[in-house]
Amino acid sequence: MKYVIVGASAAGLNAARTLESLDPQGEITILSAEEVFPYSKMSLPYLLSNKLKKRDYLFLPHPSKAKLLLGQRVVKLDIERKKVETVKNKTFSYDKLLIATGAEPYVPDMELEGSPLVLTVRNLSDMDKLKDKLKKSDVKRVILSGAGLVNSEIADALAELKIPATFVIRSSRMLSQIVDEEGSEFIAERAIENGMELITGESITKVQEKGDHANVFLTSGKIIQGSCVVVGKGVRPSIDFLEKTPIKCDTGILVNEYLETSVKDVYAAGDVTETKDLISDEYEMHALWPVAMEQSRIAATNMVGYSWKYPKEVSRNIVNLFGEVVFTGGISKEDAYDVYKEKESRSYHKILVRDGKLVGFVFVGDVLNPGVYLAAMKNQWDVSHLLNEAIKGALSYSMFKAPTREVVNI
Ligand SMILES: Cc1cc2nc3c(=O)[nH]c(=O)nc-3n(C[C@H](O)[C@H](O)[C@H](O)COP(=O)(O)OP(=O)(O)OC[C@H]3O[C@@H](n4cnc5c(N)ncnc54)[C@H](O)[C@@H]3O)c2cc1C
Repeated sequence: MKYVIVGASAAGLNAARTLESLDPQGEITILSAEEVFPYSKMSLPYLLSNKLKKRDYLFLPHPSKAKLLLGQRVVKLDIERKKVETVKNKTFSYDKLLIATGAEPYVPDMELEGSPLVLTVRNLSDMDKLKDKLKKSDVKRVILSGAGLVNSEIADALAELKIPATFVIRSSRMLSQIVDEEGSEFIAERAIENGMELITGESITKVQEKGDHANVFLTSGKIIQGSCVVVGKGVRPSIDFLEKTPIKCDTGILVNEYLETSVKDVYAAGDVTETKDLISDEYEMHALWPVAMEQSRIAATNMVGYSWKYPKEVSRNIVNLFGEVVFTGGISKEDAYDVYKEKESRSYHKILVRDGKLVGFVFVGDVLNPGVYLAAMKNQWDVSHLLNEAIKGALSYSMFKAPTREVVNI
């Protein structure tokens, strides 16, 4: 059997490893757009902060047998002939195809695109550019356009380096995509304590090069200065090459419960997909490393010929920002159903419960065992008798009499 995998990151590599173990005779080719060996994208902020002592620690272990071809961005998929074509005019035929092309940063303001001082952070080359700008610029301040997860992680890394940053936020608050207003306030306080500046209700209209730094123009007319601008306004799945194919996409590729696309023998896994969410029961992106790992294992298993169903997913995030753990899951940016909140001077906890089952939470500060919260939500275990423990962040597996104590990767 000939397997072709497009994309060589969390999903692509893990699929290759799974295929190697389930079909040792199979011929596996992985096509990567990038010129460097696969690495952990989620560790890039640690490269910036120097928490990652050596650049080599970023790189991911290779599958043992699969052929990995670098610099081979796929530009065309021919469904009829079961072939893909790369930017270097090479074609590869497949019996089963996995699309694991992940996502790319979204720069909503086209005027900012293309300026050498406007960066995004997704790839190793992006991080190299940011480090280079910081080294060369006479102004040691980074302007962060947007205050989502990636830019907040960049700010946290800059705080470690004692480099100040200014968030320019169109909405009124930080991390508005994953926490509610009260959660945002707690995080913003910590950010300010760590040398960050927050400008809310504003957008960047123009970035002008001025020597080695940038003059950044805001909607109000104000001008601020920085080494560069990092745009962190979310990501979009990398699906351009599917444009002329019948593969069904919304924001990302819509897959069925076997992670097969609307075209037979073409599967998809990782950030490029949209799958059903357990809480909303709608198709959503669940752009997380452990999700990419799980989806790729299941997709590859099905490519070999098994029929393993991928369960509905739950959205979640866990991140350490400015010394505090921020842990969210399910419905987290608004209040819904039965709402329980607990606020102390340096911590904020909220859980949302529907018919005795956990459907959302926000923890800023301590939470003892995050995996239990995900397991409780994913398995819809009854928490109605455990509300005191749940709101304190103190749930543990032993509190549940459930027959399966499924451990969930966060
Ligand atoms: C700065 C940062 C911090 C993060 N922090 C966390 C975190 O704390 N926790 C967490 O769970 N997740 C985190 N993530 C998200 C996590 O990295 C992604 O969920 C994960 O990388 C998804 O893996 P993937 O294989 O689906 O896609 P990707 O990692 O995006 O890889 C896709 C690969 O496919 C390649 N590709 C794209 N198009 C083509 C094409 N046409 N042909 C060939 N190759 C192509 C791309 O170049 C890329 O190398 C973070 C991401 C970033 C950038």
